[in-house]
Amino acid sequence: MRFDHETLPQRVRFASGEAAAHVAAEVAALRGRRVMVIAGRSARTVAREIAAGLPVAHWHDRDGDVVMHVPVPVAERARAAAAEHDVDVVVAVGGGSTTGLAKAVALTSGIPVVAVPTTYAGSEATAVWGLTEDGRKTTGTDPRVLPRAVVYDAALTLHLPVALSVVSGLNALAHCVDSLWAPRTDPINQALAAEAVRALRTGLPSIVKEPEGLEGREQTLFGAYLSAAAFASSGSGLHHKICHVLGGMFDLPHAQTHAVVLPHVLAFNAPHAPEAERRLASALGAPTATAGLALLYDELDAPRALRGLGMPEDGIDAAADAVVAAAPPGNPRAVTRPAITGLLRAAWEGVRP
Ligand code: NAD
Repeated sequence: MRFDHETLPQRVRFASGEAAAHVAAEVAALRGRRVMVIAGRSARTVAREIAAGLPVAHWHDRDGDVVMHVPVPVAERARAAAAEHDVDVVVAVGGGSTTGLAKAVALTSGIPVVAVPTTYAGSEATAVWGLTEDGRKTTGTDPRVLPRAVVYDAALTLHLPVALSVVSGLNALAHCVDSLWAPRTDPINQALAAEAVRALRTGLPSIVKEPEGLEGREQTLFGAYLSAAAFASSGSGLHHKICHVLGGMFDLPHAQTHAVVLPHVLAFNAPHAPEAERRLASALGAPTATAGLALLYDELDAPRALRGLGMPEDGIDAAADAVVAAAPPGNPRAVTRPAITGLLRAAWEGVRP
């Protein structure tokens, strides 16, 4: 066995009901005296509770302060506010959009971030930033944007509606699947991904059955972290390249797009990736990975069609061209235009692979 693996430097604190105490400890460890709290509308109340005892210099939580995919003017406003208030620590309470805005501040200022996730997007565990300008999303990797600490508290996800929890959890599952064949996949990523699949396979159906139960939320949050840690080191595989193209071209919702596309990429690659197939089937507890995923989607009543998300049918050809141009090196199967057109059409129609 030979491989190179990079583990990112970050503290993870995981305990339901302990967010306020853990955030306070992390801010103190960073010697924070002028904290900026970033929160979107859905997390505003909980952020005010968590941060009540902190030395807050600026609350960045008005309507419009957090916007999905971090448009550049939204990032510029947050950066200006951080400078104006002489901020020394950013605390981000919310989903991937909120973490993304905190990363945008860190990218240009180096101000450390403490992330308190309220979805299963996993951005908190990666050093990847993203910004959008004129409908184009740019991403990059920079160690400055990796949150110094992540405070997980499953109680904060209890208000995430079931349908959003499902697609957000499937976004996490997509990190696991893609990390098995992404350009920098290695045995550590693969081990993390397999355990993440087990946690998500247990957690997501529990959330559907009992949305107010903490156990399913904890399993899903744990799986989300493991999946993002795997993905952070493996890089983007074919699935993420496809979703990136679709999200950018048609302004589709992030987690829903990942949820719809995942079964199609799995069916496309799995027959050509026997080791990934074996790991996924085992973690999903099914004879094959594709069958295991299909069963999970039925249990979760997951969304199936890109047309249901607003993608126009006449966009399939242009999207296929863009995916082929962005295909990651080393994908287990050749990424040809006819094959990708077929994959996208099936995902658009919602055909079961
Ligand atoms: P999001 O942060 O926009 O949240 C989705 C929706 O859920 C929003 O309407 C939000 O208000 C609501 N919400 C969040 N937490 C809630 C809660 N606890 N209760 C009720 N409602 C709640 O979306 P997301 O899917 O978490 O993140 C998507 C964004 O993150 C995208 O921009 C994506 O590109 C980025 N992302 C980045 C990385 C990375 O590594 N850089 C990884 C994953 C996602």
